Amino acid sequence: MDEDSGYDSDDALLELDGVTKYFGQDSGLLAGLEFEPDQFPPVNVNRETVKAVDDVSLEIQPGETLGLVGESGCGKSTLGRTILRLLEPTDGDIYFKGENLADLGGEELRRMRSDMQMIFQDPQSSLDPRMKVGQIIEEPMRAHDMLDDEGRRARAKELLEKVGLDPRHYNRHPHAFSGGQRQRINLARALSVDPDFVVCDEPVSALDVSIQAQVLNTMESLQEEFGLTYLFIAHDLSVIRHISDRVAVMYLGHIVELAEKEELFENPQHPYTRALLDSIPVPDPRENGVRGVLEGEVPSPVDPPSGCRFRTRCPRLIAPDAYDWSEEKWAQTRAFMRAVKRRSFEPMPAARIEAEFFDGDRPGGEAGSIVDEAIELVASDGSAGGNDDDETDRWVTATDLLLESFAEQSICAHERPAYDLESEHGNGDHFAACHLHR
Ligand code: SF4
Repeated sequence: MDEDSGYDSDDALLELDGVTKYFGQDSGLLAGLEFEPDQFPPVNVNRETVKAVDDVSLEIQPGETLGLVGESGCGKSTLGRTILRLLEPTDGDIYFKGENLADLGGEELRRMRSDMQMIFQDPQSSLDPRMKVGQIIEEPMRAHDMLDDEGRRARAKELLEKVGLDPRHYNRHPHAFSGGQRQRINLARALSVDPDFVVCDEPVSALDVSIQAQVLNTMESLQEEFGLTYLFIAHDLSVIRHISDRVAVMYLGHIVELAEKEELFENPQHPYTRALLDSIPVPDPRENGVRGVLEGEVPSPVDPPSGCRFRTRCPRLIAPDAYDWSEEKWAQTRAFMRAVKRRSFEPMPAARIEAEFFDGDRPGGEAGSIVDEAIELVASDGSAGGNDDDETDRWVTATDLLLESFAEQSICAHERPAYDLESEHGNGDHFAACHLHR
């Protein structure tokens, strides 16, 4: 039990409830204003909002490492900074040791801030080149009025040793150290104020693979010695696998899967997690580089897809209930829809399209009529033939027809998925945001 706060260490150290962070693209005095001379008044206000983090809820237990993984731009770094209130949340609550950070101000917030530290990706730019290493490590202690000059110096030297550096290098400048050593200095600085919780934002991404493992091992020893809790942000699943107890997977501002490490790696239940795992390079000379790379671009966070945000790239998109499908016919139609959308095949006669995508047997009923119409539009011998401009229009029309008739009718487009599953490995919870588990 923490005497000051009443926090019981059996409770979650950190709890996020619906945490949301939106950025307006109109920050700045005149930003977002567009001049429109043909109207009165002759200006428009463009208030596009980037939905970087949207309604994230999770808990982190004392002493654990929660890995947070996802492609760049998925919102994971924004979430880390919002937790520490380096960015103000747009909505939602952040409880640290049972206290809502939004309710804290002044001295209480300052005290809580010393308990929550951050390590950044780039050890080069996050260390002031004019300061000596000792001063760098002592700076946060000074800011929090910790110890006197002598005490701070002794603690800085002790921490240098703890992170695997020579305390005699106390008076050196950061440029005298390698990338891995500079990240160790960052670690010592973060630990100087004796925090309970550290957000580690891609801390080893800039380092060579051989150095990465050494720094990760040091972080693990320090975690044990100082009783630290980590939120470890990375895009590299092998790094996440090395250090995490549980793993949260993030896509376009949402958490799409969260489970214990072994469960997530051995029994992934979200198509996005599976695609990420499939894209880990395999150290096998018979395998040719990266496998199963995700198709398509990540959609804009200004206007994310409705329902499941992964649906525009998902290879498992669920069949709309309105039609009578066999699994096989829906899988074929889905593949055809994607190929038309990406225009990934050369124009060819209708019979060949039918042979290539449907094994010569188009779906029946109303769905079949829609597929027929789309084939007619893109076939080289289709009845809607014309010049090159017409051809582009016909592919666009076929894409719209297929998406509106099928993709937009799927449950994946209408309801945001959230399911609690049974774990196959370990006893922990397994959350997957995918309607395949409905
Ligand atoms: S909900 Fe649908 S679109 Fe989303 S991951 Fe699951 S199957 Fe794919």
